Amino acid sequence: MEVTALPALGDNYIFMLCGDAPDRAAAVDPGDARPVLRWLEKSGRRLESILITHHHPDHTAGIPRLRELFPGTGVCGGAGDRGRIPGQARFLSEGDAVPVCGAAAGVLEVPGHTRGHIAYFFDDGRGGGDLFSGDTVFGGTIGNLFEGTPDDMFASLQKIRALPGATRIWCAHEYTLQFVREAARVDPDNERLGRRLAALEGAADRPTVPLALAEECATNPFFRWDAPGLCERLGTAPGIETFRRLCAVT
Ligand SMILES: [Zn+2]
Repeated sequence: MEVTALPALGDNYIFMLCGDAPDRAAAVDPGDARPVLRWLEKSGRRLESILITHHHPDHTAGIPRLRELFPGTGVCGGAGDRGRIPGQARFLSEGDAVPVCGAAAGVLEVPGHTRGHIAYFFDDGRGGGDLFSGDTVFGGTIGNLFEGTPDDMFASLQKIRALPGATRIWCAHEYTLQFVREAARVDPDNERLGRRLAALEGAADRPTVPLALAEECATNPFFRWDAPGLCERLGTAPGIETFRRLCAVT
């Protein structure tokens, strides 16, 4: 799967996906139709499907215009978002497979930021893949818990941490520098995190997406609920207790 990240609405990303079919493309979380239309015009492709991770307007506001211009476009979203995504035609649950431009995405239910939030995973079959995770994970942090609890988000992150080691995470906002800085305050003894922060500060305006799952597991405190040094610093038992504390202190 070939992925192009289009900056939109200040700090959002919209992702354009191309598979083996030369004339088609899919859009992930089009919060604005305009960059998608510009990209389609330039590439000469037609929009085949729209994948939505969750119902927030900065992920969905471009749908009506795109469907006006490409009426056959199927809109996919979580079953829990029924009634909250314009034009939604597929209502997806954990383990569903979605055909996208000649490939197939597996669906993960990842509630926490919102209750109906899903992620799409394209397994490359070689120990990696591409995860479109919306507002679940960002560089160095997680999304705000608007509709879910820390326990919901913990279950969601366990699923993501269990994906193949070379997975790339296409998160929907560019927040990395700000939150890796914050992470370094929470987990100051983590040398790899210190090196990540130094590298980011040396290249402040460079896009950081896709994130590497392996790097998040090593440096994002929310993936390190069982790291001995971090648990000791927080004074919490490894697991959900540490995760809840991280949600409370950051
Ligand atoms: Zn959101």
